[in-house]
Amino acid sequence: MKQTVVEHLTETFQFSPNGDPEETSKRQKVIEKAIRKTLASIGEDPDREGLQRTPERVARMYEELTAGYHVNPTQLINNALFDVDYSEMVIVKDIDFYSLCEHHLLPFFGKAHVAYIPKGKVLGLSKIPRIVDMFARRLQVQERMTQQIADFIDETLHPHGVAVVVEGAHMCSMMRGVKKANATMVTSALVGTFKSHLKTRAEFMEHIGRRRFDD
Ligand SMILES: [Zn+2]
Repeated sequence: MKQTVVEHLTETFQFSPNGDPEETSKRQKVIEKAIRKTLASIGEDPDREGLQRTPERVARMYEELTAGYHVNPTQLINNALFDVDYSEMVIVKDIDFYSLCEHHLLPFFGKAHVAYIPKGKVLGLSKIPRIVDMFARRLQVQERMTQQIADFIDETLHPHGVAVVVEGAHMCSMMRGVKKANATMVTSALVGTFKSHLKTRAEFMEHIGRRRFDD
């Protein structure tokens, strides 16, 4: 059977648990060494003043930019699921996200829009941006990130439907001067009623100011 998103997250979380300072500093030392080698390989002198502390800074930066690997998904939503008798669309739009493309390790970033139609349960509002963050702060491709956010909410809340639209600008396209026209990408994932009901989908698109998915 296909692994669920929650299972996948739990696996990466167990592989490198956070909150263990010893683990963290071990990881960082490995990254520091690799960055030092990289600097030398591109023709730099890793010992010159400006670069002396760069490996250390980069290692700390990666810790932050990939913090999603160390989030416990169960803990994230703990105490934030509420029983309600409400079945109207819940929308959280314009959630800023910053991620790293797994092909080039360059940033892609933009806005995520998330909607769901509750079936007895809602999620505390502040949790939606944190779910987006948990998936953004790891090596990603935008299509997968979009789907994972939708699947996670579906698996956790079992709502009538979930919709996620992500608009992302990709530095690997912009900086490298390739595919310039596609530097901004829009992806969407639809589950349940958002998939089966055109009207529901249209209502969401109108809320986030998009006429269609692909314009
Ligand atoms: Zn890339």
